[in-house]
Amino acid sequence: SIQLSIRDLSKRFKTGDGVKGISLDVIKGELVTLLGPSGCGKTTVLRSIGGFLDPDSGDIQIRGSSILHLPPEKRPTAMVFQSYNLWPHMTVYENLAFGLKLRKKKKDEIRGLVQEALKLVQLESAERKLPGQLSGGQQQRVALARALLLEPEVLLLDEPFSALDAKLRMEMREELREIQRRTGMTMIFVTHDQEEALSISDRIVVMRAGEIEQLSTPQEIYDMPRTLFVAGFIGRINLIKGVSTGRSVAVGEAHFEQEREVDGKVIAAVRPEDIYLTAEQEPNSLPGTIRQIMILGHYAEVSVESGEQVLKMFVPREQSARLSSGQQVRIGFSRVVSFPVPEA
Ligand code: ADP
Ligand code: MG
Repeated sequence: SIQLSIRDLSKRFKTGDGVKGISLDVIKGELVTLLGPSGCGKTTVLRSIGGFLDPDSGDIQIRGSSILHLPPEKRPTAMVFQSYNLWPHMTVYENLAFGLKLRKKKKDEIRGLVQEALKLVQLESAERKLPGQLSGGQQQRVALARALLLEPEVLLLDEPFSALDAKLRMEMREELREIQRRTGMTMIFVTHDQEEALSISDRIVVMRAGEIEQLSTPQEIYDMPRTLFVAGFIGRINLIKGVSTGRSVAVGEAHFEQEREVDGKVIAAVRPEDIYLTAEQEPNSLPGTIRQIMILGHYAEVSVESGEQVLKMFVPREQSARLSSGQQVRIGFSRVVSFPVPEA
């Protein structure tokens, strides 16, 4: 069932920036990520849902009822920010209990709920500590627990892990996913980090300059980007000049089958893992010269100069050991998505 519905939401700031015509339905228990470069309008959408910003037009509904007339504290939403926003002079317990006291919950009940929430975020032992005595990751867990205690119908998370280091960020992703699985809570997650979006989302909304560019599952966004912008923004990709006829795209002398029909001059987008080294005999392959081999753990990133372009490809570590800079090779593409050349 649809938990959150955003209909044709628009907000224009005095500067002319903002968001335009955002529509989105989120199913109960789903984690949907708003992804896009800084300034594309992610926070504007989130703040509109939370009630911290009045949109110019459009509607936001939860389970079929508009929430636009409600102030933030009356909305069935809770928000987690990048800066944890904890009260520095209150203990973790007090930070968590505060909202429940305001809701006139009894002391015993509050104790039980707070302990349960701390267990969920794996911080049982931190009850009596002050936020300043905790690491960034722990503080963000407290902020998350506090939001969960409000039992929102939709939890809003605005770049919650951006201030954490890479390793911790990955752990928090997994934890959030686990919490979501256990609670069944509907979540809208905001990030500018495409890898984070790909790894935690049920669906991703790619935004650009205030509008939705694509709305699909991570797999589909990665495999079938709808626009050149999405192709370039998500994951690593090579952009290669070509000419397309239906399902066949010509690059230099070679022809490759592609995922979509396009006609005319195109930019062919090929991911590094979809370029392979091939034998001399294969007709549909391109000649190239290896320019650089970078070992990146279990695989190597190999730069191949072909015609006027340098293409990046991933090669398994063992295979890369047999390659050397300056070597002549032939390459093929196993998966191509191409886009009409944007008009100048
Ligand atoms: P994101 O979260 O994707 O980085 P925002 O939603 O914060 O983007 O901002 C979208 C655009 O609107 C940006 O160009 C930003 O500068 C502008 N903007 C955001 N809030 C305000 C505001 N209160 N007043 C004027 N401009 C704003
Ligand atoms: Mg933002």
